[in-house]
Amino acid sequence: MSSPTSPADLVILGGGSGGYAAAFRASELGLNVVLIERDKVGGTCLHRGCIPTKALLHAGEVADLAREGEQFGVKTSLAGIDMDGVNAYKDGVISKLYKGLQGLVKARKITYVEGEGRLTSPTTVEVNGETYEGKHVLLATGSYARSLPGLDIDGTRVITSDHALNLDRVPASAIILGGGVIGCEFASAWKSFGVDVTIVEALPHLVPLEDESSSKLLERAFRRRKIGFELGSRFSGVQSTDNGVKVSLENGKEIEAELLLVAVGRGPVSEGLGYEEAGVQMDRGYVLVDEYCQTSVPTVSAVGDLIPTLQLAHVGFGEGILVAERLAGLKPAPIDYAGVPRITYSDPEVASVGLTETQAKEKYGEVKTLTYDLAGNGRSQILKTTGAVKLIQAEDGPVVGIHMVGGHVGELIAEAQLIYNWEAEADDVASLIHPHPTQSEALGEAHLALAGKPLHVHG
Ligand SMILES: Cc1cc2nc3c(=O)[nH]c(=O)nc-3n(C[C@H](O)[C@H](O)[C@H](O)COP(=O)(O)OP(=O)(O)OC[C@H]3O[C@@H](n4cnc5c(N)ncnc54)[C@H](O)[C@@H]3O)c2cc1C
Repeated sequence: MSSPTSPADLVILGGGSGGYAAAFRASELGLNVVLIERDKVGGTCLHRGCIPTKALLHAGEVADLAREGEQFGVKTSLAGIDMDGVNAYKDGVISKLYKGLQGLVKARKITYVEGEGRLTSPTTVEVNGETYEGKHVLLATGSYARSLPGLDIDGTRVITSDHALNLDRVPASAIILGGGVIGCEFASAWKSFGVDVTIVEALPHLVPLEDESSSKLLERAFRRRKIGFELGSRFSGVQSTDNGVKVSLENGKEIEAELLLVAVGRGPVSEGLGYEEAGVQMDRGYVLVDEYCQTSVPTVSAVGDLIPTLQLAHVGFGEGILVAERLAGLKPAPIDYAGVPRITYSDPEVASVGLTETQAKEKYGEVKTLTYDLAGNGRSQILKTTGAVKLIQAEDGPVVGIHMVGGHVGELIAEAQLIYNWEAEADDVASLIHPHPTQSEALGEAHLALAGKPLHVHG
């Protein structure tokens, strides 16, 4: 099937979210597919990313509920965190999903090849000394945790998210370098486990890609949770101490902790894989693609964290499906990346879709905004969570941005996504009855207010 005399329809290098989604959709569409993976199908998301972090965050939520049961009139206390138990729970979730995924690879009759692959021409990949030829090749080799110049990751005191997901103990204290999504999620989970956490972020806000109002609400909530942060502070160095690390900042401050988690972003896995030699245009290690995920070499496509689009698993899925459909002769539409939902699963959660207020002003000039405080939402009061829903409307037009902060608001982004992507106006949503008492009502009420007919709004 994959010998040089009978090329596969598609050879995929990398079996993470982007690669396996493309493999599944392509085989569904009747293409014969070779999927090459050097580690485990499922990639970062399943084994070192989305799934394990959310399991840790959920364990943290259970810890918080046990610690704070009294505020609901329930007598509970937290006896402690058993990291072996937490890891067994997390690994159990991963292994169940991993088995399911392996089953899907088999069921779709995908030729699965284990080994480190390398692009050897615009239509061939070499693995374990064998050449796999495809009419098309998809590069989906993903990303790795970056560090900063002069900052060596030793895996014990100075670690990345890969190490942080497998700690066998709860550290007494931790410094997290980077206040983006990954940094804030670890800060939240660790604080719930009782770790004394300080985030160091070079930009002026946590989750700096979000609407500034969301960043400020998260900062307020983190302050209340006693999660420390140093904003607008650049890292200058780290030293080992008797008990851990001492981090120095450019502003002269020094912070000590048991460990340093480096969460300064992720870089593309592309070095030494033959991409450039095959004529693929690159930029700082990222593979450049057009809006259909095709590279400068017509037989080579690329998806996921390897290309300079949003580094999210569902973006990888979407791009993988897009490529498979294009190669099968369908006519998929390019992805509107602003319409992709984004969630930070900290406590509280931050969720958004569409444009920030700044981006909307750049695009539309004047915009209208409306902020609905979760204080008016019954369900949020029951859950004792605070936050807000902020809407951004192009003047007299559709809603072009939805930004939410609060416990579990990530679950609301699916509706918000429809509102943005279907270009709904405030009235369209205001006329839909939302179930009571749910947090989704906050989204409904925000649109009622934006449409000029507020219900539970003071002032
Ligand atoms: C801590 C953390 C939390 C995250 N949380 C979320 C979240 O909640 N939601 C979300 O949407 N996203 C999340 N992400 C991001 C998400 O995991 C990635 O966007 C997604 O995994 C990217 O998919 P990919 O297929 O591009 O790459 P990957 O998942 O990295 O897959 C690439 C695969 O290619 C393989 N590979 C690489 N080189 C070769 C080679 N030469 N030969 C063979 N195989 C090779 C690798 O082994 C890997 O399995 C998180 C990431 C991290 C690190």
